[in-house]
Amino acid sequence: MKIAAFDIGGTNIKWGIVTDEGEIIEKGSFPSRVEEGADRLIENVQNKCRQLKEEYSVSGAAISTAGQVNSDEGEIVHATENIPGYTGMKVAERVENAVGIPVRVENDVNCTALGESWQGNAVAVSNFFCVTLGTGIGGALVMENNLVPGASWCAGEMGHMPLYPGGLTCTCGNRGCLEQYASAGALERQVEIQKDRFVPLPEFFEEVRKGEKESMRIFDTWIDHLTNGLQSIVHLLNPSVLIIGGGVSAQGSLLTDAITESLSEKVMPNHFSALRVRIAGKGNEANLLGAVRHYLDNQ
Ligand SMILES: [Zn+2]
Repeated sequence: MKIAAFDIGGTNIKWGIVTDEGEIIEKGSFPSRVEEGADRLIENVQNKCRQLKEEYSVSGAAISTAGQVNSDEGEIVHATENIPGYTGMKVAERVENAVGIPVRVENDVNCTALGESWQGNAVAVSNFFCVTLGTGIGGALVMENNLVPGASWCAGEMGHMPLYPGGLTCTCGNRGCLEQYASAGALERQVEIQKDRFVPLPEFFEEVRKGEKESMRIFDTWIDHLTNGLQSIVHLLNPSVLIIGGGVSAQGSLLTDAITESLSEKVMPNHFSALRVRIAGKGNEANLLGAVRHYLDNQ
């Protein structure tokens, strides 16, 4: 069986043809063009999906998307202005009606967790927390082999845990949220402020690897912010694995070693003895795979 998978983000929409064994046999992407609005965005997904249905005879569509998702109904219950007009969008219904195949929709961070649990670095792990570091910070929680959605589809919003009450203003309306200090976006801002010039993150991490003093100091402070948040997650949930996703996960052991070392000083011994910090092994394919896993589990 072949399924058309989509990963809808604020910049790009990735797509793939995925088998029910989890093999990606074809993939590509096109720009989201969010400035044209959410209706247009969904029309673009419908058109691509129709084309993939004809070309590959797919039996359904699996969608991973930004925003808080009622995954029973395939509806966006809340989205930020990253995709204007997206809140309330009945994604599953719209694509199903236009293309004539079953459609399932799940939040993108939850899809990362499902993808990692199916094919990546959380295979056979019953209790884990997945953190994605991007413009903001996302979180997804798997307890006793079940993805935990929460009462209104938004469990795991780790990025909005308060780190410095009264601190930097956050997109959620509060101040001092973790993601204002510990996201990849926050790191990029700090690097620019401290160095007084814009440095792309891959270049910054290269400086850290070479032991450049100022870069190491900025990196250590960022890791310290991040593990202040992870410390609470570990104490609250006692996971056996923390999966670190998002673009910065390309930094591999530079990241996992620093997080592990910092957590060793913050987490109680019994919690720490059970804990492993791992990178999301499927990288940017995890969301496509996770969307398909969700589709297969909810047929
Ligand atoms: Zn916030």
